[in-house]
Amino acid sequence: MRRDDLLLILERIFDQSEASRTELAEQTKFAPSYVSALVSELRRRGLVEEGDRSPSRAGRRRVLLHITPDLGHFVGIRIGRANTRIVVTDFLGRTLSVKRVETETSRGERHVLDLIDREISAAIENDGVVKGIGIAMSGVIDHNSGTVLFWPKVAGWNDIPLRKMIEAKHKLPVVLEDSVRTMALAEAKFGGGNGRKDFVYIVVSMGIGAAIFIDNRLYLGAKDLAGEFGHTTIDQHGELCSCGNRGCLEVYASGSAILKAVNDGLQHGVHSSLAPANPGEVNNRVSIEAIVQAARTGDQFARTVLWEAGLHLGTGIASIVNLLNPETIVLGGEVPRAAKNYLLRPLLHSFRARAFHRSVQDFKISISRLGGEAGAIGAAVQIASKLLPTFVK
Ligand SMILES: [Zn+2]
Repeated sequence: MRRDDLLLILERIFDQSEASRTELAEQTKFAPSYVSALVSELRRRGLVEEGDRSPSRAGRRRVLLHITPDLGHFVGIRIGRANTRIVVTDFLGRTLSVKRVETETSRGERHVLDLIDREISAAIENDGVVKGIGIAMSGVIDHNSGTVLFWPKVAGWNDIPLRKMIEAKHKLPVVLEDSVRTMALAEAKFGGGNGRKDFVYIVVSMGIGAAIFIDNRLYLGAKDLAGEFGHTTIDQHGELCSCGNRGCLEVYASGSAILKAVNDGLQHGVHSSLAPANPGEVNNRVSIEAIVQAARTGDQFARTVLWEAGLHLGTGIASIVNLLNPETIVLGGEVPRAAKNYLLRPLLHSFRARAFHRSVQDFKISISRLGGEAGAIGAAVQIASKLLPTFVK
């Protein structure tokens, strides 16, 4: 019995959350008797347990196998510009605890680093069997060294060796990953990407990013930069983007773009319930939620801004679908979560006008049903996945 084969079976069970011996034999092309022997060994070592039974095609009930949940727990932390979420999960990625704190990036990077340290320490102490830490953030990351190169729109974050710092402090293995990718990993395991081989996850928050799954694997790109969907050009003579280019999708369809369009309109005196009480003042309370609320009460200006953003998103998504022909697209992030009723119609309208007719057949665009802690859960899942080989000695 080879170690590689034991690990392969363990990884297959982990990736699918649960799998039967028959499925494992089909997937690995191993003889059913060999799969049974490998599973027996994994069970003997306490790595795998038998769980529910589900009906099989032949009518016999098959036993589903899963990783032993308490084999190890993991801390997942997602550092957002506004909030930081901390979760502890078991080996199946089920959350045992969730916490949300304000990041307060304006207080400087030392404040944020202390906050991360404190929260990780508390999570480890409370749990007792934490085996690793997954960290997700929207900064630009050098994966080889685990360094945050910079964090767009946040001052002070330059070349911070975050992975090494956390590893040294907590004496545990750490992964550092882009939060779009960890959200996508959670979506692949627990959300709309589950059971899909080829899908694209798009996050629309203050920026726009994407994670591409091809044949069940996250596509990283030659320099690990795949997924910068927000910086694809939709108007080459368009407005300047924070990346230095012109006319990026992010300038038209992100949360920042929606806020800017509303604030610009208000400054020009458009008629809207979002307008400040006194002309000339600025309404500081304009948020995505406030804009959606205004649209709900019939505010035509708010509806128009959301409609335009939806049209642009649909244009961008049509390019992805024409290029990659995925089975499905899942939209995540705070903007679709809050504004789906106003974004989806224009989005589908421009998408259908531009996508290849044949790639749209049986194709589905859905809004993620996972909550705001998905990025932290995905980070925990990623470190669990990375540590699997250490359990098969
Ligand atoms: Zn750009």
